[in-house]
Amino acid sequence: RVFNFSPGPATLPYEVLVQAGKDVVNFQETGIGLIEISHRSREFMAVAEEAEKNLRELMEIPDNYKVLFLQGGASSQFFMIPMNLLGNGKKATYLNTGTWAKKAIKEAKLFGEIDVPYSSEENSFNRVPTQDEYTVAEDSEYLYFVSNNTIYGTQFPEFPETEKMLISDMSSDILSRKIDISRFGLIFAGAQKNLGPAGVTIVIIRDDLLERTPQNTPTMLKYKTHADKGSMFNTPPCFAIYAVGEVLKWLKKQGGVAAMEEINREKATLIYDVIDSTDYYIGHAEKESRSLMNISFNLPTAELEAKFIAEAATIGLNGLKGHRSIGGCRASIYNAFPRDGIVKLVEFMKQFELDNPA
Ligand code: PLP
Repeated sequence: RVFNFSPGPATLPYEVLVQAGKDVVNFQETGIGLIEISHRSREFMAVAEEAEKNLRELMEIPDNYKVLFLQGGASSQFFMIPMNLLGNGKKATYLNTGTWAKKAIKEAKLFGEIDVPYSSEENSFNRVPTQDEYTVAEDSEYLYFVSNNTIYGTQFPEFPETEKMLISDMSSDILSRKIDISRFGLIFAGAQKNLGPAGVTIVIIRDDLLERTPQNTPTMLKYKTHADKGSMFNTPPCFAIYAVGEVLKWLKKQGGVAAMEEINREKATLIYDVIDSTDYYIGHAEKESRSLMNISFNLPTAELEAKFIAEAATIGLNGLKGHRSIGGCRASIYNAFPRDGIVKLVEFMKQFELDNPA
C-alpha cells in the first residue's frame, strides 16, 4: 500500500479495512454479507448501538444530546441547520473562514438573517479569527464556525467564547482533539476524513433544539424525525455506520481522543518543522491558525510543485496535490494516517529541496 495523503475520502486504519473486507462477505458468521443484512436485524442493530456508545464514550457526549447518523453529506447540514433552527427569519452569526463556511452561509441565507462579522477571504483564507476580531450579534440564535478548514489548512486553536450557543462543522477534525460538547448546540461531521467511509454524517444535537423546527419542514429534514427513531426512520447507510463503528473501536485501542491529540500534534510538527526551517516551502496558513489535519504549502514555482507531486507519487507518497482553489500542495494527515508516512514525506521534502534549487 502507498501512503495516501488524500483530504477525503481519506486513509482508514488498515486493520479496519481488512476486517470490513471479511464482514462484507460473511458478517459475524451469519452467512450473509454485512451490506445484505437487514438494518433491523439483531446483528445490525447491535452494530449501530455499539457505534453510538463508543462515540459517546470517546467524545464524552452528555446525556442531553442525541447522536444521529444521517445521509446527504456534511453539505446537507448547511441547510438543515438553519431550516430547523432559524424558523421564520431568525438571526444567526457565521464566521467566514473558507469554502465550506461560505457554502453554509449561502444556504443559511435562504432561511434567516445571517450576520458575517469576520471573513479572511481577502487573504485567501490563511487564518481564523481571534476572539477580538468579531462580535456576535445580540439577537443571534447561534454562532456557526468551521473548526478545521480542510482546503486552507487552518484550524481554530481554541473555540469561540460567546454567550450564544456554538454550532460547528467538524468534518475534518472530529475526534482529533478533546472538546467540551456542552458548549455546543450542534456539531456535525461527514465521516469520510476522521471517522470512516463517505455515506454517513454524524450529527450531535442538544435535545431542546429538536423542538424548534417549523411545522412545515419536510419529515426527512427534521432532526426530531431521526432522533425519535434512533436514526432508523428509513434505511440508514449500513456499511458506513458499521465502518465508523470499527474506526471508533480502533480509536479506543489507540488510547482515545486525548492520546490521538498528542499523536496528531507530533505528526503535524514534523512537517511544520521542515516548512519553518527553509524559505523553499511556504505554509499557506498563518502560524497561529495552523491545522493539525491538513497542511497546505507552496514551493517556489508552480512547475516545482507539479514536479514535487509527481515525484512523491513515484515513491508511494500519494494525494499531495493542493485543492484547485489555492493550488500548491497539501498533506492531509488525519487520525489514521501513519506516522511512518510523515517521516517519509519529511525526508522527501528535504531531499527535493537539495535536488531542485529555486
Ligand atoms: N465541511 C468540510 C469542513 C469539508 O472539508 C467538507 C468536504 O471536504 C464538507 C463540509 C462537505 O462534505 P460532504 O462532501 O460530505 O458534503
